[in-house]
Amino acid sequence: MRIYDVTLTISPTLPVWPGDPPVDLQRVSKMEEGAICNVTRMNISVHTGTHVDAPYHFLAKGKTVETLDLKTLTGRAYVVDLPDKDLITAADIEAAGIPPRTKRVLFKTRNSVHWGKGHTDFNPNYVAISPDGAKYLVERGVKLVGVDYLSVAAFEDPAPTHQVLLKAGVIIVEGLDLSKIAQGRYTFYCLPLKIAKSDGAPARAMLIGV
Ligand SMILES: [Zn+2]
Repeated sequence: MRIYDVTLTISPTLPVWPGDPPVDLQRVSKMEEGAICNVTRMNISVHTGTHVDAPYHFLAKGKTVETLDLKTLTGRAYVVDLPDKDLITAADIEAAGIPPRTKRVLFKTRNSVHWGKGHTDFNPNYVAISPDGAKYLVERGVKLVGVDYLSVAAFEDPAPTHQVLLKAGVIIVEGLDLSKIAQGRYTFYCLPLKIAKSDGAPARAMLIGV
């Protein structure tokens, strides 16, 4: 069994969405200053690094993150490698050869090159899923969609793709580092922090080779 950690490391150099607070980690208790132990305070957006979007992120009456179903967040998944796409459309997904009845799809794109190289600047030209691509995924019965940048939707107009997926109850996982992952079948585990009434939560995510 091979475990692949596809989680971004939360650190002050991690790019964040423009306008979101940068990652702030402060040690508030320091052993080198005589404290009995080290304690760090973390000040971050819940959409930092590898994270899950809850419906409440784009739907005023949507479910919040602590209520999301762990059954959806865990199980068989398919990683699709689309290295040449700038926007993932319904036609691209249809042509990608995703096995029938796949419930969890993770999209590997050129975005993962950034993580592999350790880039620290936000890139607004990331690869996203178009609204028609999102509709197609819903029609296929997909329940979880993962992407390898900080948003599933294009930078210029993020609402439509998010709304299509979240209205249909699809769980969105963003900020996956798929740089070392080949296309194919895996078992996926994604465990968002259980934060009350939150529109999202950072998560630890891993793939297990099958
Ligand atoms: Zn998000």
